[in-house]
Amino acid sequence: MKKLCFGTYATILKLCKAKSVTQKWLCGTVLLSVAPSYDVRTDDGTTSDLILGKKNLSPNVTDFAPTADARTTSNYFKQNILPLLDGNKKSLIVLALKDIIASDNTIEPDTIVEKVNGMTKETIARRDAFVLDDFLAGIFLYTVVNVENRNCEESVKEITEEYIQFFDAQKTSISFLTAYSKFSIETADEIAIDTRSLVLLTETGGKCQKCGRLLGIKKEGNDVNYAKVVHLSETEDIILCVDCEREIQSASEEDKLALLSDKHDLEILMVARDAMSRYTLEKQIEDVLREVHLMDVTNDTRLRIKPVKVENKITEKRLKERILLDVRQLYEGVNNSLDRLSGENKLNVDTFAKNVKRMYEDAAETLTSQSDIYNLLAETLFEKNGYKYREACQIIISYFVQRCEVFDEITK
Ligand SMILES: [Zn+2]
Repeated sequence: MKKLCFGTYATILKLCKAKSVTQKWLCGTVLLSVAPSYDVRTDDGTTSDLILGKKNLSPNVTDFAPTADARTTSNYFKQNILPLLDGNKKSLIVLALKDIIASDNTIEPDTIVEKVNGMTKETIARRDAFVLDDFLAGIFLYTVVNVENRNCEESVKEITEEYIQFFDAQKTSISFLTAYSKFSIETADEIAIDTRSLVLLTETGGKCQKCGRLLGIKKEGNDVNYAKVVHLSETEDIILCVDCEREIQSASEEDKLALLSDKHDLEILMVARDAMSRYTLEKQIEDVLREVHLMDVTNDTRLRIKPVKVENKITEKRLKERILLDVRQLYEGVNNSLDRLSGENKLNVDTFAKNVKRMYEDAAETLTSQSDIYNLLAETLFEKNGYKYREACQIIISYFVQRCEVFDEITK
């Protein structure tokens, strides 16, 4: 096992520094980032003990690092550390640090190792594009704040010239960015908009608030019947179809007020439904499961054994959100009902899952869109249940999507 500590970190930088730079100067300059008055850039003994993992960092550094501003530290790295490194070895530095972090068993997958952007061990392992100044500053802060550097000599010895050169073959797998922020802000905005239309659509029962046309949340290939959020005032949004949205632009104040008043009624209905929903829905789910377990099934329908995450199974973004929402809200409810019913010998969960899987196979023969399949499955279940509890049926289908018996995994 390799270990991430200041010694191993500094040794990687040392092996990838520009030729004219000394190791003490490099190490001393790194430490100045959080301790501006602690200058060991010309101190051979101190820097060498630190790089070799023999001693702990001075309190001059460790006392200040926990409160150091991560963004400022990264800017410092950009100005002062990157110029000291060999520009041809940037990818090797990243690959070596990624390797050490991945193989250090003392770090949990959800531990934040890059402190500038809050990247966890898991995230770092998955990524292959980085902002180098953030990456180096963020990991430096982690080593100073979270890890003892004393007694790390053995770990440092593993970081050799050969170890670094080993990554040369993978060099092109790493790319560098100037910032992460743009992408993440855009994504956050998009998610916020989607959530808003989801909430509004739930209130109207999935319909245009004005003409009652059924709306989808998906825009692609759905030019008219998709939901548009319309701002009626600073604080009031409603959901309309594209046609009604166009009309509302020229509507009278009176018409707008009528729409707003409708919307308030819908909100009150929602609050009332929420208050009873969890208990009632759980009861309804149980009723549906009780009634439909007698559906016939062929014996050769095989169940997927290993769970696959929803992320890998569903390509349609909006459908994914709807299913994740259902699952998050009522997964426990469905699970409890299934457990209880199988405990009472009223339901064979495997048989039921096979039924759902078979319904999927039938649906997939004629339909290609995942939304259409999902809707057909929920409607079929609804029908088998004597047209009772549509919402409970949708949640049950969501549950089985999550349990992997429905959509085939999308291979990446
Ligand atoms: Zn409309």
